[in-house]
Amino acid sequence: MKIVDVTAQPFTYRSQIARDSEGHSHPVPEYDATECLVEISTDEGISGYCFGGHPVGAIRQVVKPMLVGEDPFYREKLWQKVKQAQRGSREVLSDRLIGVVDQALWDLAGRALGQPVYKLLGGARDKVPAYASTMCGDEVAGGLNTPEAYGEFAAQCRAEGYTAFKLHTWMPPIPWAPDPKRDVAACRAVRERVGDEMALMLDCFHHYSREEALYIGKELEKLDYHWFEEPMDEHNVSSYVWLTEQLSIPVLGPETAEGQMFTRAEWIVRGASDMSRGGVGDVGGITPLMKTAHLCESFGVRMEVHGGGPGNLHALCAMGIPGEYYERGLLHPFLDYEQRTPWLNSIVDPMDEAGCVHVSQQPGLGWDINFDFIRANAVTAPPG
Ligand code: MG
Repeated sequence: MKIVDVTAQPFTYRSQIARDSEGHSHPVPEYDATECLVEISTDEGISGYCFGGHPVGAIRQVVKPMLVGEDPFYREKLWQKVKQAQRGSREVLSDRLIGVVDQALWDLAGRALGQPVYKLLGGARDKVPAYASTMCGDEVAGGLNTPEAYGEFAAQCRAEGYTAFKLHTWMPPIPWAPDPKRDVAACRAVRERVGDEMALMLDCFHHYSREEALYIGKELEKLDYHWFEEPMDEHNVSSYVWLTEQLSIPVLGPETAEGQMFTRAEWIVRGASDMSRGGVGDVGGITPLMKTAHLCESFGVRMEVHGGGPGNLHALCAMGIPGEYYERGLLHPFLDYEQRTPWLNSIVDPMDEAGCVHVSQQPGLGWDINFDFIRANAVTAPPG
């Protein structure tokens, strides 16, 4: 089998989610947003798919020439090839982009072999407990504007079946944010509202000082929180070593530090966190995510899989050491999570009443793609 084409098709859809000036998602009035379908097609008529793939010029002009003519089952060779091309062109070939390409290759393999990806990876389970992951705090009545609002939203998520809840608290550009005391107040309000019925986690402002991070961590210990995520700049590894030594609550990281599985290895050796993590968007696909999982297993370190989507879900279902949870989000009281992917006929991460997300048993990653929707809303991408 040979790859004959790699395409990126942008299309529009109505969205109620937009990013603020700091990159945080919030509910907004409905507008036309853009998504992109990447397709890797072969001479045997079988294709693999993944969504993402921005900028499309990188797919068409950089990735396509590297893949056409290659055997799509040589995923390791192709991942190494694209990864090495990142040197000197990382602004074009981001880890997120090469992750899209890698996931499309896994989807292709699954479709060609008639098996879901998690079974090709080495199946370990077919469902994973999910945690409700909130959007960042806001100043909107009925939203996530007070500690009590987080408490109410946690109770609502518990009623929907979630057994775990992660707060993203208030961050810039909110003028008074960040505020360590208010972060702790929100964490306390959630614990008081849901009692010990839920595992609770915090992902707060990411540029706190050592002392601020230590204060929050100590308070989270009193509230019996499950993990403490990225309170400081992850490039400052020594600060994470310092923090992890002083806290009993598990410190979780890295998320945003570049360097794929290599960086995770260095964090483990340095003792910069208690639990490691990675997601297909952080480390560049399922291929390096499984390397990260095996690295963590070898060191006896727990691992959290960061972010949602089928690539992360299939990896979670193929990990011998259980990934902590599947991240379902980002959630907000104003939004219906189930309605945000109109380009799919069914959602990729259905959750049962016990709060577990089930992996698709369809071949590949289990995308149930609405090709008619994508054709009807296709837009011409600008060249380049
Ligand atoms: Mg985070």
